[in-house]
Amino acid sequence: MNTNANPEAAEARTNSNFLHDIIAEDVQTKKYGDAVIQTRFPPEPNGYLHIGHAKAICLDFGLADEFGGKTNLRFDDTNPEKEEQEYVDSIMADVRWLGFEWDRLCYASDYFGQLYEWALKLIQAGKAYVDDLTADQIRHYRGTLTEPGKDSPFRNRTVEENLDLFQRMKAGEFPDGSRVLRAKIDMASPNLNMRDPVMYRILHATHHRTGDQWCIYPMYDYAHGQSDSIENVTHSMCTLEFADHQPIYRWYIEQLGIFPSQQIEFDRLNLTYTLLSKRKLLQLVQEKRVSGWDDPRMPTLSGFRRRGFTPEAIRAFVASVGASRTNGIVDFEMLEHFQRDDLNRRARRAMAVLRPLKVIIDNYPEGQEEMVEVANNPEDPAAGVRRVPFAREIYIEQDDFRETPPPKYYRLSPGKEVRLRNAYFVTAQSVVKDEAGNVVEVHCTYDPASRGGNSPDGRKVKSTIHWVSVKHALSAEIRLYDKLFTKPDPNDHPEGGSFLDNLNPNSLERIADARLEPSLGEARVEERYQFERVGYFCLDPEAKPGKLVFNRTLALKDSWAKIERKAGA
Ligand code: ATP
Ligand code: MG
Repeated sequence: MNTNANPEAAEARTNSNFLHDIIAEDVQTKKYGDAVIQTRFPPEPNGYLHIGHAKAICLDFGLADEFGGKTNLRFDDTNPEKEEQEYVDSIMADVRWLGFEWDRLCYASDYFGQLYEWALKLIQAGKAYVDDLTADQIRHYRGTLTEPGKDSPFRNRTVEENLDLFQRMKAGEFPDGSRVLRAKIDMASPNLNMRDPVMYRILHATHHRTGDQWCIYPMYDYAHGQSDSIENVTHSMCTLEFADHQPIYRWYIEQLGIFPSQQIEFDRLNLTYTLLSKRKLLQLVQEKRVSGWDDPRMPTLSGFRRRGFTPEAIRAFVASVGASRTNGIVDFEMLEHFQRDDLNRRARRAMAVLRPLKVIIDNYPEGQEEMVEVANNPEDPAAGVRRVPFAREIYIEQDDFRETPPPKYYRLSPGKEVRLRNAYFVTAQSVVKDEAGNVVEVHCTYDPASRGGNSPDGRKVKSTIHWVSVKHALSAEIRLYDKLFTKPDPNDHPEGGSFLDNLNPNSLERIADARLEPSLGEARVEERYQFERVGYFCLDPEAKPGKLVFNRTLALKDSWAKIERKAGA
């Protein structure tokens, strides 16, 4: 099943016109006859998917869907040393979470037999040869951008000798790195990729799917286009760094006379304060700089998911970024903006006090309790209402009280009246301090006529604060996340340093004992919450019965909206 009638397909179209136009023209001119439009998403299973991959996924699936076509998920698994089943499983889960379902599940390794047959065919046609030069020598012989390369002394081996050596490479007669199979093209080509590129290398390594069946493995350039062709891929979209590979992609397909898949390049997604390189993300995981691939500070889809981001917001963000033919960089705040917008519409509201300060309402009858009715989401009446217990002793945020208020401080302070959200007006009367002089308790009085937080006589209060009942509150650990890197470009480091020097030492703050309204005891991992006045939160999968853990997805403040306003002004 493909993603039918996916509204994101329409969103994607508005901003990726050039890709859309290419396909539309091919459909109109019947470039592929009546064949359906076929795309593929081709991750290498050597890490978890990141937000950059989300862009490729939305384009591959979205564009195919627009044209009634199909999309395969194909694992580009030609590097046995770096690939693992764990990555395969996580990639499938992440593509589905993002909202897409592939037509066929494919593996480049399924084509090893066919690729080998085609290599024999190229040898027989005098278009490929076995080379005994070392990797270093090959690099040396390749030449530079300004100088042509030199022919390898093994370039003119006979077809028979090449067939014999290649078959023996496959049979395991030679050690790793001793020989390669190369395409015989043009050592003077201005495009370095066309200077007799390596097609196969010897690698005695166990593959996550084919085990020890093979000890020669195809290189990316030889495997990718041919895999596309086997799957009748009409439009093979990839990122711009492959533009220089386009000639070699075509050369193999032309020489073999197989289905003419075409490669089209678009710009990579880059985000400020973010690294989108699996190799570097793997390093963060391996060196335990983060708790794992799904650490909520990671730019992986599993990290964003655990942080509380939603597939809808990520798709909307990616659609808005669009695709072009030049690389750029997108502000991280723009992604946050799309996420806030989505959460504002759907997040259930709740009250939570992160840093509690006890308030005692002296004139509220001792032992009395009542339930106040609260809307679950003022943006969405269908979300219904819930009942929150109120009593004589409550917690408020430490920040919501000042014994000596600075100018323009409108929250609670001695003699000042504020509204307790959805409950009553209260006025601070006195404080209790510990030996160090810290305020540990605030005594207030309340106005019973202000029930529901409504003014009884038109008198105004300047501030509304949230609260939870001491007796009913649940304790929870709260994890506040900030950017993982301190610099917009994490790779901007002094010579001799590395991106690790730019790690933000304060990217995670843990609050051990926050107090929450009791309804949050039923929180579910998939549910999204707005802790009123505090931010957006979600339950962490590590939470257990009796041990609540919430992750802050985002603070409430939308800095992107401000940036945009400034830009517009
Ligand atoms: P990385 O450099 O992070 O390892 P990759 O390109 O090697 O990424 P692949 O698994 O080969 O990762 O990528 C699968 C697909 O996703 C490719 O088509 C690739 O072009 C695309 N892709 C990878 N990173 C980005 C990105 N930042 N923006 C858009 N597309 C991307
Ligand atoms: Mg890659």
